[in-house]
Amino acid sequence: MSDYKEMWTSLGLDQQTHDAVLDLVGKTYQEMFLSQKNRPKGMEYFDFVVSEIHGLRIRELLDAKAEGRKVIGTFCVFVPEEIVLALNAVCVGLCAGAELGFEAAEEYIPRNTCSLIKSAFGFKLAKVCPYIEATDLIVGENTCDGKKKAFESYGDLVGNLYVMDLPQTKSEAGKALLKAEYLKFAAKLEELTGVELTVENLKKGIETVNNKRKAMHRLAELRAANPVPISGLDVLLANQVYFYDNPERFTASINAICDELEQRIANGEGVFPKDAPRILLSGCPMAVPNWKVPGVIENSGAIMVGEEMCTGERGFRNLTDDGANTVDELLDKIVDRYFEIDCAVFTPNKKRYDHIKEMVKKYKADGVLHYSIQFCQPYQIEAMSVEKNLEKEGIPVLSVDTDYSQEDMGQLKTRVEAFIERIKS
Ligand code: SF4
Ligand code: SF4
Repeated sequence: MSDYKEMWTSLGLDQQTHDAVLDLVGKTYQEMFLSQKNRPKGMEYFDFVVSEIHGLRIRELLDAKAEGRKVIGTFCVFVPEEIVLALNAVCVGLCAGAELGFEAAEEYIPRNTCSLIKSAFGFKLAKVCPYIEATDLIVGENTCDGKKKAFESYGDLVGNLYVMDLPQTKSEAGKALLKAEYLKFAAKLEELTGVELTVENLKKGIETVNNKRKAMHRLAELRAANPVPISGLDVLLANQVYFYDNPERFTASINAICDELEQRIANGEGVFPKDAPRILLSGCPMAVPNWKVPGVIENSGAIMVGEEMCTGERGFRNLTDDGANTVDELLDKIVDRYFEIDCAVFTPNKKRYDHIKEMVKKYKADGVLHYSIQFCQPYQIEAMSVEKNLEKEGIPVLSVDTDYSQEDMGQLKTRVEAFIERIKS
């Protein structure tokens, strides 16, 4: 680790706080992941990734920079990775899932801001995130009001923020706005990387990202089996790593796990007993190391069979069609793919309800746990309609609002256990 220490110092990290963070992640990981029984062997890759979360991957990013490649940090699944890869840059997700530096963050944003936004400030101010420090450009996306306003002061903090506007309605005008923003983003990256978008490099970028998505589709479908061959916690972890790993290596690792799971299914093997209660998780994204609600679910005897969230199916759903012959037509295809994302910042957002129902059916879920981060108005408000829509069709729903703290663990556990009893009866 000593050579990493040098690397972390060069990135300006606060060694003491950073050591404490790594220690905490390691301990939590041990308790939540390594203690699980009968995990697929392929998860060893992800254990390694987490053990090197601020080590090897950061070294790879710095090596890429030394070769002249640029590192682009993002906070939202609306940033088209295809364009980033086409321009020979590296894409890394920056969302954080821990309560760190919140007091310092409250000097910039109000106390009643969601934990996802607060942790973006907290991690920067506490100097503990080597990903933030390794970026050449950070993309802020105008999604909810919280992010939109927070990015105004975040830009001063990081000094390399580029803000992308995003539509809020699924209208022709909304689609035109997305196309215009992707064109601006591509031009910004062309200027930064010195590479020009071509049909060839864009098709290659699309292929790489589609392969990653296809592997995740394959993994998702295997979870329909009974017994379920892999825990929801392990799949959530894969979904989280999706955002910062080398894409080709990630794809190969997921496909290797799928080969193993197919064998497990053929042998009737599962991680939980056959007919264990099955829960679909829906709502806000969960960034590393936010494993709180999934941990409560799976430690209470139910298994997660799908995630209708950006660290889940909302992030990898739908492929980008590469059947076009000009850069502009390919950009239209990219816009078509991203415009389908049913984030709660859109109004109205009815297709999301249908998608949750489809997922319930596909993965044979017995109930839906809707997760909102406290103070996230888009998802908290939408949770009420999700609940009404699903309950109307006889699908049990538990709606949970929580933050990154551990204070409500007891209450959360009681509610989740009662919900599991309800879906069992
Ligand atoms: S929930 Fe919405 S704003 Fe957040 S990452 Fe997903 S698409 Fe972006
Ligand atoms: S969790 Fe909600 S409030 Fe927080 S950034 Fe995402 S959409 Fe905005």
